[in-house]
Amino acid sequence: MNTLHIYLNHLDYNYQSIRRRLNPETALIAVVKAAAYGSETLPMAKRLEQLGVSSLAVAYAQEGETLRKGGIKIPILVFYPQPEGLEIILANELEPCLYSEAIFKKFSQLLDQNNKMHYPVHIKYNTGLNRVGFPPEKVSWVLEQLENQRVELKSVYSHLAAAEAQNNTLLNQQQIESFLRLRTQHLTILKTQPIFHLLNSSGVFNYPEYQFDAVRCGIGLHGFANRPEWDQELKSVVELTSKISQIHHVKKGGFVGYDHGWEAAQDTVIATLPIGHADGIGRHFGNHKANVLLHQSWVPIVGNICMDMLMIDVTGVPCKEGDEVSFFGGKQSAAEFAQKGGTISYEVLTGIGSRVKRIVHS
Ligand SMILES: *Cc1c(COP(=O)(O)O)cnc(C)c1O
Repeated sequence: MNTLHIYLNHLDYNYQSIRRRLNPETALIAVVKAAAYGSETLPMAKRLEQLGVSSLAVAYAQEGETLRKGGIKIPILVFYPQPEGLEIILANELEPCLYSEAIFKKFSQLLDQNNKMHYPVHIKYNTGLNRVGFPPEKVSWVLEQLENQRVELKSVYSHLAAAEAQNNTLLNQQQIESFLRLRTQHLTILKTQPIFHLLNSSGVFNYPEYQFDAVRCGIGLHGFANRPEWDQELKSVVELTSKISQIHHVKKGGFVGYDHGWEAAQDTVIATLPIGHADGIGRHFGNHKANVLLHQSWVPIVGNICMDMLMIDVTGVPCKEGDEVSFFGGKQSAAEFAQKGGTISYEVLTGIGSRVKRIVHS
């Protein structure tokens, strides 16, 4: 019924497309957090490993554990380790980002207890996003801690708050300058040199001159870069489809859906699809906000989206029960679909529910 098709050849395509924008020596860290942006973690991770990415990155420790259990051998960076996840990191040879004094100390203690030396770690600085990271003023504290041989600093990074912004916004520039200063401070003091990275997918398109030694790409590998002209260079890895469950002929004045959400202004043909907000098609897509593709026609979602179902107006479009409908990833991209519901590709992709069957096409 509902299927999320995952096209690994589109992942290959996006990888090559992004690679072409990078210097040959720049490493690509492939971000596969949130079940590879809602697709399917292991097939995506394995393909990326084959393609030759230098490492993978996830948000939380458990996601890294899943990758290791699935047989991934390359380094795995954990962006946002929480105190509860540190043991999982150690047990699975994951590489934590240490972003605060508390996390740094806690992880060092754990290394002490386990008598580990030269454990690979990453340091993140908060240059303006104000989410996680050491404030730049803490650089000397960080550098002092690194004399402790328990950890080995593999990389230093930061994250832009508006990497996709049209113009070189002042705030981006300030973040870049702050990162450049931090880089110099590290390079002057440290004997063994870490690598430096700042850019996510949009950053690769917008600020290629600041790719430093590596970039961290997630959404770009999945087919989006947050601007229509950049999206053109990429292909959506996933397509979401559903199939008509039932067709109703609703007379003029009849109502469709909960709360009598929609009233037929004329005799109407309504098709019901077995997909709802529990599957990631939120209520904000209902009431004519979003269209779906039925054969060659765009048809609107009418009324309120239910938990398990939604209704589309198929008046004038020849169709029958069992016919397939495409939500996004075919003629309409997830970014375009997302916009109609007032959201972004990231949210739509990662929100696709676990009831939706995944089919991987290699
Ligand atoms: C998720 C994430 C990325 C990937 O960003 P995209 O926009 O998906 O390329 C990069 N860096 C950090 C720290 C992240 O959390």
